[in-house]
Amino acid sequence: MEKINVKFNQLLNFTKETDVKKAESVKLLITDVINTPEFRTRILNADFKDRRFIDERGEYSEINDNQEILNKIIAEKEQYTGETVDYEWDFNICLYRSLTGEVGHRKKETIFTKKRKFRNLSHRFIASHWIHEYTHVLGFTHDYKRTERRPYSVPYLISTIANTILEGKEYEFLN
Ligand SMILES: [Zn+2]
Repeated sequence: MEKINVKFNQLLNFTKETDVKKAESVKLLITDVINTPEFRTRILNADFKDRRFIDERGEYSEINDNQEILNKIIAEKEQYTGETVDYEWDFNICLYRSLTGEVGHRKKETIFTKKRKFRNLSHRFIASHWIHEYTHVLGFTHDYKRTERRPYSVPYLISTIANTILEGKEYEFLN
């Protein structure tokens, strides 16, 4: 099993020392969870109800094979960067201020997380949020309205899987 690394390419607007520290701890959680055999087994057995994938030219396809979904998640290159398969998750994260209710979103290869949410929400929650947004960077998508299948789309179900695995783990900094 190839070990996947998580790397921060860019942390924008992490203005306090504690922001950077929290980001590093979240990175640890993400690295931990994506390298558990359980994470991979659960993806292979997941009942995805929305398997849409958008390639770099903006064309939709459906990935019917869970193994292929897993391969994209653990090894495939990020879009937009022209990168090849490297078993490394490159995160570009930007904190921002806004009054809307969302936690964050993704634009091209950058994950935007609301500063207030980043500071107030648990490490586990932020880890799940970044994993969700990262699957968008890879090309997976979901309905933007609440629909029955949305929780079973690749981004939502993968982050639920990660969250469930993390729930059973204990970390020093979470105490
Ligand atoms: Zn999303």
